[in-house]
Amino acid sequence: SNQLENFPDSETLTVYICGPTVYNTSHLGHARTYLTFDIIRRILENVFGRTVIYQMNVTDIDDKIITRSNELQISSSELAQKYEELFFKDMEDLNILPPTAVTRVTECIPEIIAFIQQIIDNGFAYKSNGSVYFNTQAFAKQYQYPKLRYITQESQQELLNNAEGVSMKNRTDDKQSASDFALWKAAKPDEPSWPSQFGPGRPGWHIECSVMANEFLVKQFNSFDLHLGGKDLQFPHHANEVAQLEAFYQKESQIKFFMHSGHLKINNEVMSKSKMNFKTIQEVLQQFTMNQLRILFLQISYDSDINYSTQQLDNAVKVEQKISSFLKNADVVPREPLQKLQVQDNLIIQQTLSCKLEMKKHYQNDFDYPSAFKALLTLIDQCKSYMQGTFQASLVKQTAKEVQTQLELLGLKFSQQNVDQSL
Ligand SMILES: [Zn+2]
Repeated sequence: SNQLENFPDSETLTVYICGPTVYNTSHLGHARTYLTFDIIRRILENVFGRTVIYQMNVTDIDDKIITRSNELQISSSELAQKYEELFFKDMEDLNILPPTAVTRVTECIPEIIAFIQQIIDNGFAYKSNGSVYFNTQAFAKQYQYPKLRYITQESQQELLNNAEGVSMKNRTDDKQSASDFALWKAAKPDEPSWPSQFGPGRPGWHIECSVMANEFLVKQFNSFDLHLGGKDLQFPHHANEVAQLEAFYQKESQIKFFMHSGHLKINNEVMSKSKMNFKTIQEVLQQFTMNQLRILFLQISYDSDINYSTQQLDNAVKVEQKISSFLKNADVVPREPLQKLQVQDNLIIQQTLSCKLEMKKHYQNDFDYPSAFKALLTLIDQCKSYMQGTFQASLVKQTAKEVQTQLELLGLKFSQQNVDQSL
């Protein structure tokens, strides 16, 4: 299906992507999400000519951060700062474009408190034992909830409970309804907390994204076009983000479009530390290059699950070698003035042009970059067979330049000196 029919058509696109919770080293699952959306962003900017405002949040206070900082006996802010730095180093090593704006939870506490107060005033949240909960029953009377993804009541409840975090276990009595979720979590002894009219505490997980996107995209640019994230965030996280914005503004959500990236599995299992199949980004980058990892991801559509294996990366290594040997061969053919065009010359000119047009068509079809990338590899094959017969060096160099342009557009880096830049 061509989902792009409903895609926001504004020249400037305001984009929000759920960022990392910075308590540990980033793994390949993070690479799956952020590299995938880096490819999408580059296509939007470089193929469709959009200007992208790209906001990412950093969750720098959270149950997991508190638990880990207690284990390591350092402050939660020290821990968060360390892993945020490592996260952005990983992103840089993967050639992922930096966000336009990075917003952190601990920098937005007053805005979050004011936002929660407004939801209470609007009648969609209530205080209970120092915490504040979103009132899903009251909300569902006026708005659709949950708005994203239709899942069974049972799995919905389980997902919601997991998303609440360990700190909210044994607090179910505080809720009016099991599906309600925390906007503000009352502080436990020795936890980092901020003063508020609800009592000392800290924000729940979902509220931060609604508030930060509202503060930056909605208030600065007056729009919220595109919301990105891994598909595990659809429910409850994104559904609750939408509900919070609607409860705050008392009107339908202004988020125009959601895109969710597929999971990354290792040997058909979800990656986890306990299964010993946990691979950090730096571990993978010791064995394989950024290009090879990007080539692997380029061959799988953004919303499909990836089953990661080293065999798949070995295949990406072969593809990379094929590309770089083609570019080198095209570079070393001696330059000659263009002669009268023969049948085979006209053919390679046609093929080069068709490839460019075909790639654009694929991008327009729900960002089908695997098909676009395949078309580019086909062009390389076509040019290689052109070079088997009588060929003109200038035309080979022209095709190589087009290949190079398309690779760069997708964030792949092949060294510049391999290709003649004077054309
Ligand atoms: Zn989020």
